[in-house]
Amino acid sequence: MRNNFLSMEALEDRLRYWQSKLRLMDWQVEIMFERGYNLGADIGRIHIFEDKRRALIRMTEANDWDPANLLPYDMEQVVVHELLHIHFYPLTRDAGSNVTAEEQAIEAISWALVSLDRRADEVENYYLQELERRPYGLLPRPAVVNCYAGRGEGGTHDNT
Ligand SMILES: [Zn+2]
Repeated sequence: MRNNFLSMEALEDRLRYWQSKLRLMDWQVEIMFERGYNLGADIGRIHIFEDKRRALIRMTEANDWDPANLLPYDMEQVVVHELLHIHFYPLTRDAGSNVTAEEQAIEAISWALVSLDRRADEVENYYLQELERRPYGLLPRPAVVNCYAGRGEGGTHDNT
């Protein structure tokens, strides 16, 4: 795992992508970079205004990330992590702000989602490259067809 530092523009792009995947498009979510000392021990924080369906994600600036951290700073994963807090919020809002079990669940799910999403991209890119290399007579690999079908992008590869 490596650091994944993104520009604000790229980050907002990923934010909209994950809002859509997580079915949070009816939320108005903003994102801003913050000096590390304003976030204490956290690398990111979300402020949820449930009644307005609004949220603000504050994230540590790349320059303030401490390389001594055990985990890399993957800005996309932090966005997914903070968005998942919106889903968990009704379950845990009365339990206080720092619920260890919630944090552990969200951390595990966010890393899993980001890595699966990148793997799907790799499979798709591999298939597209192969198509460019050999445009005729390329049989779809079963794994690729399943992947496409599962992602709702067709799955009707009729190469026979
Ligand atoms: Zn969290």
